[in-house]
Amino acid sequence: MTDTLEIQITRTQQSKLQDVDLSNPVFGKVYSDHMFMADFYNGEWKDLRIVPYGNLQISPANTTLHYASSIFEGLKAYRGENGEILIFRPEANAKRLITSAHRMCMPPVPEELFMSGLQELLKLDQDWVPSAPGTSLYIRPLQMAMDPYIGIRPSDTYSFMIITGPVGPYYSKPVKVKIETHYTRAAPGGTGFAKTGGNYAAALQPALEAQKEGYDQLIWTDAREHLYVEESGTMNLMFVIEDKLVTPPAGDSILHGITRDSIITLAKDQGMTVEERPVSIAEVIETLKGGKMQEAFGAGTAATIAQIKTIAYEGVDYELPEVESRKYSNSFLQTLNNIKEGKAEDPHNWIYQV
Ligand SMILES: *Cc1c(COP(=O)(O)O)cnc(C)c1O
Repeated sequence: MTDTLEIQITRTQQSKLQDVDLSNPVFGKVYSDHMFMADFYNGEWKDLRIVPYGNLQISPANTTLHYASSIFEGLKAYRGENGEILIFRPEANAKRLITSAHRMCMPPVPEELFMSGLQELLKLDQDWVPSAPGTSLYIRPLQMAMDPYIGIRPSDTYSFMIITGPVGPYYSKPVKVKIETHYTRAAPGGTGFAKTGGNYAAALQPALEAQKEGYDQLIWTDAREHLYVEESGTMNLMFVIEDKLVTPPAGDSILHGITRDSIITLAKDQGMTVEERPVSIAEVIETLKGGKMQEAFGAGTAATIAQIKTIAYEGVDYELPEVESRKYSNSFLQTLNNIKEGKAEDPHNWIYQV
């Protein structure tokens, strides 16, 4: 960032930092002292400001409360070895927020506004970035329609905000997932590629049913025929089959994950064959049975890589090879962690230093 937009800063009177155990923060429970906000009205983004973290005042007729006119992002900042603050691929999140905005009929938040707000907020709340191994500062940008109007039409007013909070290491136990062939997350022509509120509300009930059956997550399948796997919860789905990285193409029903893109890039760097193509349930089951599926995992900001140990389909559990044997995904995880913490070279300029 060279030019910084003008942002008005109001500091908190009383930092909450001393009440927080930064060595062991709990995800989603603790928020940093400040938040960034900007409002859209009269056709422009205005009133860029950083204020103490606090509640919003919203009309009960607010259109987002009724019709889910909201989009969000999720990214992380890490504490580098020399105390510096490093954010992983924030420009990619800024761009994806714009993609989501177009689909949801919202005015885009310019990338410079997103980046300036983020940079100033993290400068102010830099002491909130934890340094214990595996910890990070989770960053949640959010854009929502603000018209106090219950008619259904695009809003004239919007808010954009960024909140942050320290999060602990994500001890991802290998997960058991169930291939879902009844419920649908996203359909062709729908909003699956947008990070928009309603997608997640609609996924709760199917996920809960899978949990009742003893599974951690679902694998969503295509809405048309339920024959092809798509993604898993809030992670993209990746397989290693006969030493090739295989993943469903990020079309309009799959979220275009930044972790997914990063892993594909690392795999290509290593000379690994990468296939972005439809993956049928039949292929998953066949390769599992025939011992050709070496690795399966979810890719997303929360866990980076969540190993899958069991895939269930039509009442049968299929087991995958031991996590220790998974040389590809273990090496992607290691490399990504090293890049994020500034311990490895960053050939693709993924790291943004505050
Ligand atoms: C956010 C998200 C992902 C992962 O995206 P990252 O950019 O890697 O964090 C995957 N699927 C869904 C549905 C998501 O919401």
